[in-house]
Amino acid sequence: MPVAYPETDTEQIVARDHQYVVRNYGRYPLVVSRADGVYLYGEDGRKYLDFVSGIGVMALGHSHPRVVSAIADQIGTLVHCSNLYYHPLQGEVAQLLSELSGLQRTFFCNSGAEAVEAALKIAKGYGRARDSAKTEIVALEESFGGRTLGAISVTGQPKYRAPFEPVIPGVRFIAPNDLGALEAAVGDQTAGIVFEPILGEGGIIEISAEFAALARRLATKHDALLICDEVQCGMGRTGQAFAFQHWGADFLPDVITLAKPLAAGLPIGAVVCSEAAAAVLAPGMHGSTFGGGALACRVAREFLGMLPELMPHVREVSAYFRARLADLATNHDFVNRQRGRGLMVGLELNIPGGGFVPRAQELGLLMNCTAGNILRFLPPFVIEREHVDEAIAVLAEAFRQGPPDGAG
Ligand SMILES: *Cc1c(COP(=O)(O)O)cnc(C)c1O
Repeated sequence: MPVAYPETDTEQIVARDHQYVVRNYGRYPLVVSRADGVYLYGEDGRKYLDFVSGIGVMALGHSHPRVVSAIADQIGTLVHCSNLYYHPLQGEVAQLLSELSGLQRTFFCNSGAEAVEAALKIAKGYGRARDSAKTEIVALEESFGGRTLGAISVTGQPKYRAPFEPVIPGVRFIAPNDLGALEAAVGDQTAGIVFEPILGEGGIIEISAEFAALARRLATKHDALLICDEVQCGMGRTGQAFAFQHWGADFLPDVITLAKPLAAGLPIGAVVCSEAAAAVLAPGMHGSTFGGGALACRVAREFLGMLPELMPHVREVSAYFRARLADLATNHDFVNRQRGRGLMVGLELNIPGGGFVPRAQELGLLMNCTAGNILRFLPPFVIEREHVDEAIAVLAEAFRQGPPDGAG
């Protein structure tokens, strides 16, 4: 039986939030009361098709029976025991990540930013162990690495860094896919090159195979670590376990950062790395109290176990979604083109897109807008064609009403 929550209405909930919660988020006007499958239910009694999925977190949708039973079972067995001791699940998840990626070892933390932090420490430690001046990081403009000081230092969007300067020095930013700039930026002073194979917050920007191959060559030549930030694009979202795997069997980074979908809704972060990168962190050099806790690892094991059957479905249903979006695009001259892979989809508009978000919400579809003009869709992997049809019908109606007032 669902718990009966104290009777409150939407306005009261919002007012209390505004009074007591730090105002660091600009929220949409929706109070979520519960969720099931691919739908969220509002306090207002309405049902919303969830093509945000908690920003790519709820890969299995909401309340998936296998997740619910894994959590229930694990909660009664072991939740947390700290990293002073072993428990069986960390090693099992690390082994699965190793088998999927071709890399050797995993460090566990609790979020994407923490994974990026750990990857930066690994790169700096790796560089310094070779030469005390080998500490530079090469990162991309428009990128997003999270909100901690280390992570904003490699986030190529000045608005996230400026209020907190000085941030960590020694980061060179180059434009995504700029081969000449990459070649010029990497040298013997470089400890690491970090990029998202598909930039998420930056507007679903796909890194080219040529850029990735050059980054791999330069990292190897200058003995720097190549870090793929797959916090958003990884773990099956693109139809492969890792987005870098679309670049062929020859491409392998030294370090991968993971988080969002890895424990199907529970907080987790992970850094999967080569033996040489992992060797940087001797006992005591890095850690996390909550990292790799039994509960999150139990759900991650469940999720990774389902991934092989989910990925063909992601490929199939995303192809259908893309075809339907392409049809829709031909009818509206403010729609330019699609970006992304699998179920990481951006619809590039040539007008500001923000105003379509509340309009779609009003019509029962949750999506968001990044980089000003990119409508972003990160639906759960378990959507079916009927859900795509439902989303397309909402978008068709939202677009039929024309550019939003104030254009965004
Ligand atoms: C969301 C995101 C992060 C940060 O993750 P948090 O869990 O919010 O700290 C880092 N990198 C990428 C690519 C992301 O999309």
